[in-house]
Amino acid sequence: MSKDLNTPIQYIKSVGPKRAESFAKLGFETVRDLLFYFPSRYLDRSTILNTKQVLKYLRTGYDGEITIIGKVLEKNTLRYGRKQLFKVVFEDSEGSFDSIWFQGIKFFKNHFNEGEYYAISAKPVMSKYGHLQFTHPDFDRLDLEESTAFQNTGKIIPFYTIPKELKSTNIGDNSLRRILQYAVTNYSELVDETLPQSLIGTHSLLSLKDTISNIHFPESLELLQKARERLKYEEIFMLECFVALKRNNIKNIRKGYSFKIDSEKIKKFLSNLPFELTGSQLNVLSEIKKDMNDGTPMNRLLQGDVGSGKTIVALISMLIAIHNGYQAVLLVPTEILADQHYKNISTLLAKTGIKVALLLGGGKKKDKQQIMDGIQDNQFNLIIGTHALLEDNVEFNNVGIVIIDEQHRFGVAQRSKLIDKGISPDVLVMTATPIPRTLTMTVYGDLDVSVISEKPKNRKAIKTVIRSDEKLPEIYKYIVDKARERIQSYIVYPLVEESDKMDLKSAQEYFILLKDNEFSSLKVGMIHGRMTWQEKEEVMLQFANHNFDVLISTTVIEVGIDVPNANIIVINDAYRFGLSQLHQLRGRVGRSDKQAYCVLVTKNECIRKAAQLKMDFSYMSSSEIELNKSAIRLNAMSETNDGFKLSEIDLKLRGPGDIFGTKQSGFPMLQHVNLFEDYELIKTAKSDAFNLVNDDPSLSANDNLKIKAALKKSFRNHIYYSLVP
Ligand code: ADP
Ligand code: MG
Repeated sequence: MSKDLNTPIQYIKSVGPKRAESFAKLGFETVRDLLFYFPSRYLDRSTILNTKQVLKYLRTGYDGEITIIGKVLEKNTLRYGRKQLFKVVFEDSEGSFDSIWFQGIKFFKNHFNEGEYYAISAKPVMSKYGHLQFTHPDFDRLDLEESTAFQNTGKIIPFYTIPKELKSTNIGDNSLRRILQYAVTNYSELVDETLPQSLIGTHSLLSLKDTISNIHFPESLELLQKARERLKYEEIFMLECFVALKRNNIKNIRKGYSFKIDSEKIKKFLSNLPFELTGSQLNVLSEIKKDMNDGTPMNRLLQGDVGSGKTIVALISMLIAIHNGYQAVLLVPTEILADQHYKNISTLLAKTGIKVALLLGGGKKKDKQQIMDGIQDNQFNLIIGTHALLEDNVEFNNVGIVIIDEQHRFGVAQRSKLIDKGISPDVLVMTATPIPRTLTMTVYGDLDVSVISEKPKNRKAIKTVIRSDEKLPEIYKYIVDKARERIQSYIVYPLVEESDKMDLKSAQEYFILLKDNEFSSLKVGMIHGRMTWQEKEEVMLQFANHNFDVLISTTVIEVGIDVPNANIIVINDAYRFGLSQLHQLRGRVGRSDKQAYCVLVTKNECIRKAAQLKMDFSYMSSSEIELNKSAIRLNAMSETNDGFKLSEIDLKLRGPGDIFGTKQSGFPMLQHVNLFEDYELIKTAKSDAFNLVNDDPSLSANDNLKIKAALKKSFRNHIYYSLVP
């Protein structure tokens, strides 16, 4: 048979029709698909130690991770205080060692068989009894032949994730390696280059052929490194080409408004505010003014921690468009927030003659229609609303600027829907979720970025403490004492109703309990997600008017609500919450010149763990991180109020996949690039991509045709697919 990358997998040695079917279930049809199924991990001979060497290392005070290979002598489940632990004893040529597990015992028990060989990777410790021990290590099974070959020849062995579809046709670590070995040996020569030769030359990248061959069966660590680098570069370069096309479309193809800035009017408006803008707010405003004044559409991301004062910046930007005779639109994620903005902004604009509209989902059809008619007839200058603004029957008259608050709550598709309604209006998206610079360079790379880096001057740093449930009586007492000084508090619970399954507190339950007991002398309110927004709004207004001392709530208060007199927030079962959510919740307090407190209530075990942690947890192995995630989050919260630091930790803990709306962004998931570690590489690839698109926006140069083809393939599901020329 002629050699061809489109050869069906079944013709690969030791595959055959039945196994080919199981590959097909994973979407792998051809040899090419197989070659692009990459190892998830490697074992490298040069980093393997034996028992004797590890003990010697330990004596020198070494405390890093090591890898050791051993044969299973026995496995046991033992009692450990009131709990269980699972222990496997291994031996190698120089002695024996143990691995122990405290969690997931059932799972791990089935992974170890007597007489088999495993490579164990973790930080070694000496047990109480002077035995070499590994806790919750990473591990890989090896067969005997492989284990000897490995130890003797110094090969680097790849490990692949083996999906259950493959397992069902008896494909395991060894057999998959053999299948791939055959494919790589016989077919990798046929892989075509996908990057322009000029870039390969400039950065001395590995060719794609050599990359494929070395990513599977590295000839050396250096070549593995080069192969990885090449994959990372290509991945981020292609993404950036797409981003560059998007930006090119906004800045060079679309036409935008050129607004005149009426400085006198703005000054007058500012002089009526009860405060002065911070330097940071003024800087951001001047960037926005420049954008609005020049003829290309503004496409800007405004980042500012909770409470940094983004709303007023947004309002002034909207005023500029309105002064020029255009409509301004403010899109927010929740009704209650929309209503809060509506009330505040209407008050601020009371004497200006500017007409403000509020458009929400639900409500009477007739009322809504009236507002919609007004919007269409240009009776309203400033329009605030929720997702309701995105509906097809909402028509604007002449939108000059669109502002999107808490942008991570909206998908790209939703955003573009609103933006496409105007003739390329200026766009300002705002977020209180700090986005690490690697992300603003990549996924949000088509946006210009402004940051409000300082908080209003009078603010004190919020004090954050971690407390156990046992301390709740004291916490309640503190809240009662503070209420006498007229300070209000939030108490947050994770769920609305008591659930049998988990030992979580519920807002409703505790509302009833607390208001009749600990807080019987106080006025207590409650808010939760099952209320209609009008009910929520009513409660929030009452809280803002100080009709309640304490507000019992679920996480519905997370977004944007502003009650400056609330200065204590107690978050129950805090270990359940994500880091950005904790930070957003904490941002509900500390909005005045008074000292604010955030109390994170959690299980004792978590507190113990958190107390031992350092802010920087780079010394921990991935399995240790996994076990300590909630403690790491709580510890980070108590160590810093800096949303940017927290977001970087969050990124490390969660991976970029599920934060900042990247999932909704329509971009393919990044497989190779680590947004946290690869800053320099991203910078280089981005600059290459932007230069290339700048020189050849139609990607029609000979060398660029393959880029175009690659983009067409990768971004076929993206809503801006049409931007690929
Ligand atoms: P966020 O950035 O979280 O949206 P807001 O815009 O809601 O923050 O502002 C938080 C609070 O700070 C509001 O009550 C707002 O009026 C007030 N504020 C905004 N800018 C300043 C300033 N420069 N000085 C004092 N208070 C300010
Ligand atoms: Mg806001």
